[in-house]
Order: sequence, then C-alpha cells, then structure tokens
Amino acid sequence: MLEMIKNEIVNAFLFDGDFIYAEPFGCGHINATYAVYFRRETKPPVRYILQAVNTTIFTDPQGLIENIQGVTSHLRKKILEQGGDPQRETLTLIPTRDGKLLYEDSEGRFWRSYHFIENATCHQSVDRPVLFTNAAKAFGHFQKLLADYPADTLHETIAGFHNTVDRYALFEKAVAEDKAGRAALVEKEIQFFLDRKADGTVVVDAIAKGQLPLRVTHNDTKLNNIMMDNETDEGICVIDLDTVMPGSVLYDFGDSIRFGASTADEDEQDLSLVSMDLELFEAYTAGFLSEAGSSLTAEEIRLLPFSAKLLTLECGMRFLTDYLNGDTYFRIHREHHNLDRCRTQMKLVADMEHKMEDMHKIVEKYV
Ligand code: ATP
Ligand code: MG
Ligand code: MG
Repeated sequence: MLEMIKNEIVNAFLFDGDFIYAEPFGCGHINATYAVYFRRETKPPVRYILQAVNTTIFTDPQGLIENIQGVTSHLRKKILEQGGDPQRETLTLIPTRDGKLLYEDSEGRFWRSYHFIENATCHQSVDRPVLFTNAAKAFGHFQKLLADYPADTLHETIAGFHNTVDRYALFEKAVAEDKAGRAALVEKEIQFFLDRKADGTVVVDAIAKGQLPLRVTHNDTKLNNIMMDNETDEGICVIDLDTVMPGSVLYDFGDSIRFGASTADEDEQDLSLVSMDLELFEAYTAGFLSEAGSSLTAEEIRLLPFSAKLLTLECGMRFLTDYLNGDTYFRIHREHHNLDRCRTQMKLVADMEHKMEDMHKIVEKYV
C-alpha cells in the first residue's frame, strides 16, 4: 500500500511540498490511516493524515464525506467567530487537485486527507481521571457548537444505528429463528431484554413526536476520538466523524457512560467486578453539562440518566442477538464471548436501575 500511496494517491491531493515518505499511523480499527510527510523550500516539513475509508462498513462514502464537510464547515465558522484556531479545533479536509474531497484510486478505494493536528495526543485509556472529564467537555463543546446545525440534512451513514425499536425487532427475530440452537441456554437473558422492551420505544417515539430534537450525534464518543493538548490535557478537537448522523444527544451521552463509567471490561467474566461508578458518572456529567448544558432542552436533561441505561440495554441486546445468530457480527476470541459481553451489559443495566435516583441528583447538581 505504501508504494501505491507514493506513486498514485499523494499526487491526487493538494499537498504542500515534495513527498518524503508515508507510514501507517495511529490505532484506528475501522479505516486504514497513514501519515504522509512533505519537505518544503522555505518552511518546515509538514505531514498530513491520509485515510482509506472502510467501504465495507460505510457503503456510501460520498454521503459520509458530505456529512464531514458540512459539520466541519459549521464548526470552522463558529471557532473563527470565537477567536479560536480552526485548523487545531476541528478536522480540516485537504481537497484533491480536481477540487473534490474524496479520491477514488485505480483499485476502487476511497481516500481522504486531513490537516495533521500537531502537539496533541489521542489517549487510548483514561489513565488519569481528568482525561474523562476533559473528554466529556470536548464532546459537550462539539454538541454545543452544532446545536443550530440542521441535523435532518445529514446522511445516515449506518442506517438505524440506534433505532432501539428496530434493534428489538432484530433481537426477537433472532430468538424466534434460534439459528445457533442456543436460545434454550439463555432463557433468563432473553427474558431480561423482553422485560424492558418498553424502554426501547422512549427515545425513538419522542423524536418522532418532536418531543426530543434531532441533533448531530457523533456516535463513537471514545476517549481516543479526541485529540488532547500535550501540555494542558485539554480536549481540543473531536475527530473520527464517520458516524456523525442525525440522532439524539442522548445516544452520545448514554454510550459514553455505558463504556466510560463501567468499573470493568466489556467482556469481564467475573460479574461481581462490574458496576456503574457514580463518581465517573459525575465526572462525565459535570464536564458534559458545563459545555452542552445551556443548549439542551429540559426533556433531554431529564432523560440523561435513562439514556445511560438505554444505550447499555441496546448494546447488551446486540451481543445477545449476535450470540443467538451464531456470532456473525462481533469478532469473538473465545466460546460464548458474546454471551459474556451481554452479561456485563445486563449487570450494568441492573446497577443503573438501582442508581437511577442518584444519577438524577447528580444531573440536577450540574444543570
Ligand atoms: P476507530 O477505530 O476509532 O473507529 P478509525 O479507524 O475510524 O478509528 P480515526 O479515529 O479517524 O480512525 O483515526 C485513527 C487515528 O489517527 C486517531 O486515533 C489519531 O491518532 C490519528 N488521527 C486521525 N486524524 C488525525 C488528525 N487530523 N491529526 C492527527 N492525528 C489524527
Ligand atoms: Mg477513531
Ligand atoms: Mg472511526
């Protein structure tokens, strides 16, 4: 691939200077990411991010790049108005020589390039609690700056991503078909999700009825999708905008709590280690609301604690659905891996149900 980048791809983009070399870059799991380096006559060398979009997952790369262009243009305008540095605080797409934002190579891959955000790190884990709060602030800030973006103009890059009504339908279909012959082994787990089926309609219905606003959602609010300043640890730029879609702010908040406030790994087998840590919940809520609070509606705020439960329920149900279907979607590394994952999510849901009142008190503290 490096030969192809050197001989074909780099020539397609409006890069500044003479190509020196390219190397695989970062720890992404979805796209193929490279850093490409250029020498310049009077200025220091420069590097760019070059990515081949994963078109197995994102079947509409054109819609995807339109989403990214729309959202980053809006962010750039806002950042400039506030006297910030748009090249550092949002992704900047580098156009191709013929004025496009995607280059289709001779083998049918789609490439895009970004300005490289320097002097910033993308952390793989919360090794210091401040990183979790700073991540919350960054995602809250992203939400705030995009509060007036027409979310209904965005493409759905993965259809029905958080449609919990559809997810329930797929789950019930998997139970009925019982393709892997496992349903009898997991009756308790199946019942757990069926008992909570009404939860699956809450957000989907409220959006349909206009009781919750449609918003720009990021849908992959992991710590490593934020660039953090090397000196201050502040979250300066939200990256990885492939899953930006129209949705509810509750999807991003809920999912962040689901994986960020859990005391154990997603596939922990000792369920006594799995719980939702209220201190982590508070750290995230404080950071998120300090930025996004003023742009949220009362109904969104009321549903924040519920959203953590809903997204955990959805995730657990997806693991169980895949287990019933014979492990065809999530990569497994041991037998019953998806069942283990499902059980951690169930444990978290149950724990959140116990702690719902405490979660509400915390939210009220920061509104
Ligand atoms: P994921 O597995 O999170 O879905 P991905 O394959 O979609 O990842 P990205 O998150 O877009 O890929 O990028 C991979 C890595 O490349 C990032 O974690 C970050 O380290 C680096 N990176 C991406 N964009 C930039 C940028 N503009 N400037 C500097 N580094 C970047
Ligand atoms: Mg990423
Ligand atoms: Mg990604």
